Amino acid sequence: MSRRGERRGSPLGCRDVVHLLSFDVEEYFQTEAAARAGLSRADWPQSEKRLAPAVDRVLQVLADHQTTSTFFVLGWVAQHEPEVVRRIAGAGHEIASHGMEHRMLQHLAPDEFRAELLDSRRLLEDIAGQPVVGYRAPTFSVTHETAWALDVLADAGYRYDSSVFPIRHDRYGVPDAPPHVHRAVGPGGGTVLEIPPLTLRLLGANLPAAGGGYLRLLPVRTVAWALKRAAGHGRTGMLYLHPWELDPDQPVLPMPPTVRLRHRVGLRRTEGKLRWLLGRFRFASVRERLDALREQADQTYAYGRP
Ligand SMILES: [Zn+2]
Repeated sequence: MSRRGERRGSPLGCRDVVHLLSFDVEEYFQTEAAARAGLSRADWPQSEKRLAPAVDRVLQVLADHQTTSTFFVLGWVAQHEPEVVRRIAGAGHEIASHGMEHRMLQHLAPDEFRAELLDSRRLLEDIAGQPVVGYRAPTFSVTHETAWALDVLADAGYRYDSSVFPIRHDRYGVPDAPPHVHRAVGPGGGTVLEIPPLTLRLLGANLPAAGGGYLRLLPVRTVAWALKRAAGHGRTGMLYLHPWELDPDQPVLPMPPTVRLRHRVGLRRTEGKLRWLLGRFRFASVRERLDALREQADQTYAYGRP
């Protein structure tokens, strides 16, 4: 039997579980790393835009592997580069919200967040011609401290959230949150389906294995291991990437060395790793799997503890 055949027939059934694939759609100059390089929101309109060709590259990879994905698009992108949203939606993918201006929830008041949710949804729905029901906070910034955001999301009619990273990290994370799809309850009682990015349980801790810098840094087989482990427990894994991670020739911003390393490590290998994973696992958008995910959510978790 070929190695590929063994994988297909493995007891973990890695081709039987449909995992989730997502992209956070923002320019390379809208990241936390770019902010650390001194770029402010006032600089964005004059900065060299590189998102459209990067998104085209992503769409080509997905078309080659006949895979659909969820795209969490920044409202700013919808305002300034609407053709990008049109191209993604036109290719049959799900459009969801990544907020308006990439402000972490720690820097927003609840009424400002509510306005971001409603404004970004209206912009995206007008361009894409499809309902927007999902949200991902910039830098996974839903934590116990910002759990009020879950109440606002539920009240605004969003059906799922993908903003909780169940790990210990200096800037985000809820290490004791369920590391799989669950019902998240905010301090005000609002409930949404929560879809955390994939982690790997090792030595009593959840380690990030899901995408972004971790996908670029880790051997791709580690990510594959995490996907198989999740599938072995009947769980869906959520991967996330950014179009700028498939654009290794983007300008080098004057970031501090450690920030630059985190932002740029492995950029030339991202597309190859993504193609490798798409060739071995099945992925889809959240929209396509929403009913199955709701059935999978057998745990309720209350956020907002001090
Ligand atoms: Zn982002």
